[in-house]
Formats: sequence, C-alpha cells, structure tokens
Amino acid sequence: MAPQGPRASLEFGGPLGAAALMLLLPATMFHLLLVVRSGPACLLDLPPYLPRPEALWSPRALLLWLAWLGLQVAFYLLPARKMAEGQELKDKSRLRYPINGFQALVLTALLVGLGVLAGLPLGALTEMLLPLAFVATLTVFIFSLLLYLKALIAPASALAPGGNSGNPIYDFFLGRELNPRICSFDFKYFCELRPGLIGWVLINLALLVQEAELRGSPSLAMWLVNGFQLLYEAVLTTMDITHDGFGFMLAFGDLAWVPFTYSLQAQFLLYHPQPLELPTASVICLMNAVGFYVFRAANSQKNTFRKNPSDPSVADLETIPTATGRQLLVSGWWGLVRHPNYLGDLIMALAWSLPCGVSHLLPYFYLLYFTALLVHREARDEQQCLQKYGLAWHEYCRRVPYRIVPYIY
Ligand code: NDP
Repeated sequence: MAPQGPRASLEFGGPLGAAALMLLLPATMFHLLLVVRSGPACLLDLPPYLPRPEALWSPRALLLWLAWLGLQVAFYLLPARKMAEGQELKDKSRLRYPINGFQALVLTALLVGLGVLAGLPLGALTEMLLPLAFVATLTVFIFSLLLYLKALIAPASALAPGGNSGNPIYDFFLGRELNPRICSFDFKYFCELRPGLIGWVLINLALLVQEAELRGSPSLAMWLVNGFQLLYEAVLTTMDITHDGFGFMLAFGDLAWVPFTYSLQAQFLLYHPQPLELPTASVICLMNAVGFYVFRAANSQKNTFRKNPSDPSVADLETIPTATGRQLLVSGWWGLVRHPNYLGDLIMALAWSLPCGVSHLLPYFYLLYFTALLVHREARDEQQCLQKYGLAWHEYCRRVPYRIVPYIY
C-alpha cells in the first residue's frame, strides 16, 4: 500500500494534532487522578500540588503492572473453546480470534478472590493508582514505538488505511499496521478487550473494598457505579478493530485511559462520599437499564442483520440496497437515528455519573468526554460510510436525518 501522501486528508489535525494529543491525553489523565483526591475536586481546578517524583515512580507499581500484563497474556494463550473470524481484509483473508475474554475475567476474579481470602490487601491498590498510571503511560510509549518499528517491516497489505501517511509522528499516533501480530497473538485484540477493561473492573472493586474498610460498608452509590460498569461490555466488531491501525492512540486508550479515567466515578466516591436515597437510586437504575437495552438491542440488530439478513428477527426491516451488495437498515433501531447504539451508550454514561450527586462536575467528566468522542467517532464513521456506499448513504441520511439523539442531533 503506497503512503497516503501529504494531500490525503489526515484526521485529528494531522501530525501537529497527533503530537498535541500525545501530550494532552496523559496530562488530562494525571490532572484528573490528582484532582479527584483533592478537597474541592473541581474539574477546572489546578491540582493542589505537583506530585513528588516518588508519588509517580514506584518499582512496586512497575512489577505489579508487568505481572498484570503477563497474567492476562497467559489467560489469552489458554485454549479457547470458540474461535471467531474477523471482518474480511483487503487480501480477502479473515483473521481468527480466540473468544476467551470472559474466561479471562472469571479466572482473574477467581485468582483475586483467592488472594483476598489469603490476606491480599486489595483496597491498598487504590493508593497505587498514580504510580500505576505512570508506568502504564511509560510502557505505552515504549510499546507504541515497537509497534511502529514492526510496522516498518510489515508487508504493504498489512497496513492500516489511516495510519500510513508517511509522517512518522502521525503514523506513530494512529498506528501504521492494522492488526499487528506475532504468530497468532493479536496485540490490538488483546489490548482492546483484556488488561484495560478487566483492570477497570478490578480498580472499581478495590475502591469498593477500600470504602468498606474506611466506612464499615460500601455506599449505595459505590454499589451502583460498580454494578453498572461491570454490566457494560465492548463488542468485537467495533471500528477500532476493523479500521484503525494499532498505535499510540489505541494503546494509550486501552491500557491507561480506560482503567484510570473510567474508574473516576468510583474514585470520586471514595474521596467524596455521597448520600443516595433508595427512590433516587431506583430511578438511576431504571435509566441505566434503558440505556443498556437500547445499546444492546441496536448493536445486536445490526450484528444479526450483517450475519444473516434473512434471520426472522430482522427479515421484516426496511433496507436500502447499496452498490457494494450490502444493504443498510432504514427501519427498526437504525431508522430512529443513524447511531442508536451511541444513544444507549450516552444514557448509560449519564446513569454512571448521577450516583455521585450533582454538586461536582468531576464525575461528569466521563459523560462530557464520551459525548465528544462519540460525536467525533460518528463523523469519522460517516466519512467511511460515504466512501463505501456513496449515493445509498446520502439516501440513508435523507431518510434518517438525526445522527445520535432523535430531533436534537
Ligand atoms: P458501530 O457498531 O456503530 O458500527 C458502524 C458501522 O455499522 C458502519 O461503519 C457500517 O458498517 C454499519 N452501519 C451503519 N449504519 C448502518 C445501517 N443503517 N444498517 C446496517 N449497517 C450500518 O461502530 P462503533 O465501532 O463505533 O461502535 C460499536 C459499539 O461500541 C457502540 O455501541 C459504541 O457506543 C461502543 N463504543 C464504546 C466506547 C467506549 O469507550 N466505551 C468507544 C467506542 C465505541 P458496515 O456497513 O461496513 O457494516
């Protein structure tokens, strides 16, 4: 694949934008981690102190982080009962992925459970979040460099459509190779679904345990945040797997951003306890259930349709034919807005923040950031669909004018 060349349209503001994001994203993460521990916990406050080097760097944190990655690699390599095929690649081949992420989650839970019974102080993990985030960031920079070097010797057919501009900063950020692998070990699939996501669950749990140790029992708000976020899971066929290369952007997102900032609500509740009455909690639970239902129903309707358009559950839906032979759904969830799954995701994001009360903006950071991410992601997907489907996509946009929120956006 020839480089896209300087005139190809680059995303994220090109090399300058990519360089800025590589500084801004870690800086934002550390800002949030410092502010959530401070007295007023105001999103726009400067951290009350600059961290001492020893608060950031700890060999124990490095060992723990490497052990965690090693453990998840070992679980990934265990024989899987099921293998799934990914989307068709440029050379018409399909990669195979082991479906054993849930097995890894259960094994991790068992191991941690046994550890706690044997006296492992899980709550103490909350004291190590800052140095853990630091070593995670450090390893992501090194890992992204190795991925970039590996991509330099990868065959042209293995390169990602977006991360092959020829500009090293931009390609390092976006990821030059689509699915970097060593033998059958797929780095992107491993990082997307394992250390970060399971790490997020574990950090939330550690915060719950620490709250119980400090205050006698976990608060209702902490239970809700833990329960909601545990329920949430990502799916295999996201744009990241099928389109984006694997570089700093996804590696940082998966390994550092997700575990350390997605657990911000639970961190906030540990340092700023919030009273929550049962009636309010019930309304929030209902909101989360609605969001989850919309998210799952929309995703599974599209997945079922893509796998088998004559499946009885989707056979009656209206469709638009496209020149590629694939069809676009224009009724059901995908006739309501062009991204009903994002709508469900945003309703859930609001439900995750509400247990933290309305006196602070900090727990709503996830909602604000996620809205920006999904609006930007929707625009990127729109461009890709326009390229894939041309006139048929225009027709879809005419018949389904709203993008994410009916009658609003
Ligand atoms: P989507 O699952 O929304 O898939 C978009 C693709 O669906 C399009 O490229 C197109 O691909 C197909 N499509 C679009 N419209 C139609 C239609 N009308 N009929 C049939 N097919 C259509 O993409 P994402 O990967 O962005 O999201 C997956 C899930 O992951 C979402 O629920 C999202 O909210 C969630 N997510 C969560 C994140 C988090 O950090 N928590 C981050 C990112 C995503 P094609 O036609 O080629 O099939």
